[in-house]
Amino acid sequence: MGKIRKIMSIFIVSGLLIAGCSKESSSASKDYGLKNVTFPLKEKVTLKFMIQSSPLAPKDPNDKLIFKRLEKKTNVHIEWTNYTYDSFAEKRNLAIASGELPDAIFYAGLSDYELLKLAADGTIIPVDDLIEKYMPNFKRVLEKRPEYRKLITAPDGHIYAFPWIEELGSGKESIHSVDCFPWINVEWLKKLGLKMPKTTEELKKVLIAFKTQDPNGNGKADEIPMSFIINHGAEDPAFLFGSFGLGDNWDHTVVTNDGKVVFTAAQEGYKEAIKYLSELYKEGLIDEEAFEQDFNTYVAKGKAGRYGLYFTWDKANITGMNDKYDLMPPLAGPTGEINVTRTNGMGLDRGRMVIMSANKNLELTAKWIDQLYEPSQSVQNNWGTYGDTKQQNIFELDKKTGMLKHLPLNGTAPVELREKTSVGGPLAILDEYYGKVTTMPPDAAWRLDLMKKVMVPHMKADNIYPKVFFSLDELKELSKIETDLFSYVNRKRAEWIKNGKVEEEWPEYLAELKRLGLNRWLEIKQSGYDRFYK
Ligand code: CA
Repeated sequence: MGKIRKIMSIFIVSGLLIAGCSKESSSASKDYGLKNVTFPLKEKVTLKFMIQSSPLAPKDPNDKLIFKRLEKKTNVHIEWTNYTYDSFAEKRNLAIASGELPDAIFYAGLSDYELLKLAADGTIIPVDDLIEKYMPNFKRVLEKRPEYRKLITAPDGHIYAFPWIEELGSGKESIHSVDCFPWINVEWLKKLGLKMPKTTEELKKVLIAFKTQDPNGNGKADEIPMSFIINHGAEDPAFLFGSFGLGDNWDHTVVTNDGKVVFTAAQEGYKEAIKYLSELYKEGLIDEEAFEQDFNTYVAKGKAGRYGLYFTWDKANITGMNDKYDLMPPLAGPTGEINVTRTNGMGLDRGRMVIMSANKNLELTAKWIDQLYEPSQSVQNNWGTYGDTKQQNIFELDKKTGMLKHLPLNGTAPVELREKTSVGGPLAILDEYYGKVTTMPPDAAWRLDLMKKVMVPHMKADNIYPKVFFSLDELKELSKIETDLFSYVNRKRAEWIKNGKVEEEWPEYLAELKRLGLNRWLEIKQSGYDRFYK
């Protein structure tokens, strides 16, 4: 799991932070002595920020129209130290370790653990006072959504970073509610005269028909009835587990409606779901590569139209935006029960921008950052801008209403265009902006519509497990347990689907979960949850 790898790398990094931190030798700007700052400044000054951006974007971030306009608006010139995504974390950590600190880090990509470490050793400063005094745009966001103030406040009561907030639907209707959508080949269903399956047994029959009745009509048994990438977020078949009880998701965590945190991979229903999948495997209905393939291999077979059923966030990325595949509704399991398990996802990244303790122009910096939370600015930071005469635009600006309207992409991949022109960083896009400040991105609007119609009616859980801000000690303990616990669970999950031994090995498996610290893990997660909702 990506998350576990990330946690392990943090431990390595943190040693570096402690070893090399010296705040004297800094490359931050000098003190300009500015007070009661209003934009544009009468005289231009320079602040020094570090940033990461896409390899597709210009090397100098100031070549982006969004930053050009911001410099004009504020008369603050930003001297960027820019690294591409792949090398950023390493360069950032080296700079911190060597004490070569900029004024701030934009698009900082810091985990909770890193944030709290940097706060504890005084590399970054708490920003709660700056928000109160100098940041009306950001304050407005926190007033409208007090839950974000809760979520970005560290257990010691301070806020250490400016977040990225992107709302796309809320509650059960959030775009993050289910990450692994099941996409079924409706062309094959039609060809074979089959109906959309409604139960797990019907799905099994459909997959057998896909395997044996040559739906692509080439005389060969080359169809792959079902594929997935095991333990790989949205490509994992976790969706099918919902037919057997509480279901499963990538972090194996759900919350019952009476507020109890449950580890999905220790439940009876989880075992039944694995049994079902192992039956499918035994029948030869699961792609042999489902347990080892990388994303590119998965896409290649998808593009070639070989799948009967597969899993991913958006079919456009695998089999294209055509009518060959459709979203398969949730299935009734052996007891007749239908349940859609929610993913613990939120459009929130706490550590998007931090101010270094070396910064001598706090009011100026805070007021500059506050510009990023102005609604229309936030929208552009996230997706790109309008009125660029040199390249394709993601938006046009309605001059009468000030609304940003998504333009047709004419075949350009949305992600590619966004990465060239957007700037990321701290921002907030709230649900009420859609239809006023901006139109919704068409790919998101389409997915939200499917979520609402197909998935939401069957979601039994009232709450997800939110992005609780744990303390440094809790994070250490959680990651220590998770490293072994999650790799064991995910390994057994894959093994059992192939070897069918889940029933006989189950008691021994439960004992091993206990030995690896499951009870303590649940205790920490439960207390975090209770703290959030109290
Ligand atoms: Ca065939």
